[in-house]
Formats: sequence, C-alpha cells, structure tokens
Amino acid sequence: MLEVADALAEVLARARPRPAGPEPLGPGLVGRVLAAAAAADRDSPPFDKSLRDGYAVRAADRFDGELRVVEEIPAGVVPRREIAPGECARIFTGAPIPAGADAVVMQEDATAAGDRVRVNLPPRPGQWLYRRGAEMRAGDVVVPAGSVITPAVLGVLAGVGRAEPEVIPPPRVAVVATGDELVGVRRTPGPGQIRNTNGPMLTALATSAGAAGHDHGIARDTREGLRATISAALDGADVVLVAGGVSAGAFDLVPAVLEELGVTAHFHKVRMKPGKPLLFGTRGDTLVFGLPGNPVSGLVCFELFVRPALRALAGHPDPGPRVVQLPLAEPVAESNDRPAYRPAALEPAEVGWQVRPLDGGTAPDLRGMAPADVLLVLPAGDARYDAGTPVPVILLGKPD
Ligand code: AMP
Ligand code: MG
Repeated sequence: MLEVADALAEVLARARPRPAGPEPLGPGLVGRVLAAAAAADRDSPPFDKSLRDGYAVRAADRFDGELRVVEEIPAGVVPRREIAPGECARIFTGAPIPAGADAVVMQEDATAAGDRVRVNLPPRPGQWLYRRGAEMRAGDVVVPAGSVITPAVLGVLAGVGRAEPEVIPPPRVAVVATGDELVGVRRTPGPGQIRNTNGPMLTALATSAGAAGHDHGIARDTREGLRATISAALDGADVVLVAGGVSAGAFDLVPAVLEELGVTAHFHKVRMKPGKPLLFGTRGDTLVFGLPGNPVSGLVCFELFVRPALRALAGHPDPGPRVVQLPLAEPVAESNDRPAYRPAALEPAEVGWQVRPLDGGTAPDLRGMAPADVLLVLPAGDARYDAGTPVPVILLGKPD
C-alpha cells in the first residue's frame, strides 16, 4: 500500500497551475497568485514629500528669529516658488517639498503669527522628508511573479497602476456525494437514512482553499446513477470529489464507474488512518479524488491531498500541507497499524502554542472533529508521548 508522502507526490506531479489571465483588481483576488511580476511605473514617492503638517525650511537657516511664510502647500498642490534664506512654506503631510527647502518642522515645534513663524526646535537636514524613490524606483519589481495576493500586495498593485493583473484562476471543484442512504439537508431522514454531510462540507472545504466549489448533490449507488452525476461533474471541472462508494463493499461502485468514464486511476488505498480507501485518478487535466464516505476520513483526505492539489493548481509555491512540531498539552498513548491522524485543538502555552488531542478522534465522529485546529500525526506502531513532547501536527487550512 502506498505511503502518504508517495501518494501526495503522485497527486502533486499531476497538479499543474491553470493558465493565467488578466482580472480586474479587487478584493476577490486576495489569496490568488500573481502570474507576471509587477514593476513600478514611476518613483514612489514621485517627489520629495512632507511626512508632517508644519513648515518646509532650510535646515542651514538661522532659527533665532522669525521666518516669513511665503506659500501654503497642501497635498496635491505643486509649489510655485523656491524658499530663500529667512523664508519657509506652510506645508501639509503628503505635499511636495518646495525647491530650496530640505527639512520640515512639525507645527507642534513652531509658533505662528500671521505670515511669520518662530521655530522652537531647530531641524536636522532631511527631517520629516520622504525622499523621491525611497519606497520604489521606476522599473523596480515590486511584486514578484508567484506572489500570493494579500490586501497589502493588492494595495501595492493599485499603487503601480495594475488595474488588471495577470492572475491564476481558482480551480473549479465539483462535489458528488454517493449513497442510497443519503437525503438532503432539508429532508427528514426516513428509516435507515442519514443526511448528506459530505456534500456541503467538501464544497465548503474547497471554497476555504480558494477554489470555486459546486455541489452536484447526491448520486445513488447504481452504475447509472453514479455515471450520470459523475459525468456531469467531470464536465468543465479541474477537480472532482466523489465521496463514498470507494471501499470494497458490493455497493462501492465508484472505481468501476470512474474507469467507464475514462478516468485513469493512479492509486487506490493509502497507508493511513482514517482515509485508507482513497482513490486518485485523472481524466485529461482533471484530477479525480474518490474520498471515503465517512466524513472524518473525507476531511482528513481533503487536508492531506486535496487542499495541496488545489493550491498547486492555483499556482501557490508551497502547496503544503504545512507540518510543524508543537508540544502536547497532555500525554498520548495509542497503537496503530498505520500512520494515524487525530483531531486536536491549539491552545496558548507559556511560550508559543501547544496541542490538546480532542475526544472522538478514533470514531467516525464529525462533531468531535469540528473544533479541531490541527491534525496530530501519529506513527504506525506504539505512540506513547508525555505531556510537553513535541509532535508533528498539520495546521488545518494552512498555509494561507
Ligand atoms: P462508504 O464509503 O460509502 O462506504 O460510506 C462510509 C460511511 O460513511 C457510511 O456509514 C456512510 O453512511 C457514511 N457516508 C457516506 N456518505 C456520506 C455523506 N455524504 N454524508 C454523511 N455520511 C456519509
Ligand atoms: Mg456508500
């Protein structure tokens, strides 16, 4: 059976970034990846500017008497005249420094009376000036290709006039839940029935990973039912998530139906707990995951394989999952025949963070899983750790 790391490598080898295109600059681009470097089209600031409200002066001037205020320069106004010895200009934050001046005296450090001003604290040369080009020079690459767009990066792109930056589109994810026992959220389950939790959860997980998720509803456990719904899901999707029906039971028809639909399986079954039945295949550029129906298993498989695939498709340089070492808040004693992934909560420690395992980690208990911040990674065999021992954990929903 394939190890988790080898299975992830199989997936990532087939998750190439989608082709980039220009999109209008806006909050919807946050979390997306910039495909082409953005360079400054001009110096910033484009002129020496004032960092304070006050007076633009000559630092070498005499400050024992009064200076004559020859002009008022609000932000957005171009100074008209040069400052001569004994003169100054009333100036405001963001306004261009007039010729002749080389420092700004804060208004708190001056006393004004009509067109005269007394400087109470003589300035250093360059004081409260932001020099032309100090932030960036025309032609400087200010956002490299491959950068993740954050609100601050978006601001930088706006500053350099990128109204339609080249970005990688979000992957399109189609979700199919399978099972004769399933009914939708608005229905009251009859005898032997349960509600479909995977459809909404997996669509939301895809959305949380920056993808465009679409829930195709419930397919019945018949070849025809599965074929119709999965075939529709495959149309125009970058990733298809089929939940349930991938184990070895008589009604687990998904692997056969995927094959009929032209999906090539690359692996089926991974040495992990939960999540062993996982199937991964491709049809053309479309990635197909057959996830176990147990929602806890589905969530673990999503974090270990699907989220990294979605990040790779979206062009993220680091697809994850991000594993960090954090100390345990309480002892752990467990024996497993496979590497195990257990829900745990993060809590503040004396220094940094620690992890506290959550109850219900060994049962198909989505409710017990819901408050988890991390998955504890336990090795196969005996895992016996004292409180305080650093253990590897996967940060859910990270890196972001
Ligand atoms: P399966 O992988 O189809 O054998 O399903 C494994 C377990 O997960 C069974 O107990 C199913 O009833 C349950 N299950 C499958 N699909 C869903 C779903 N969409 N929502 C909630 N439970 C499900
Ligand atoms: Mg089933």
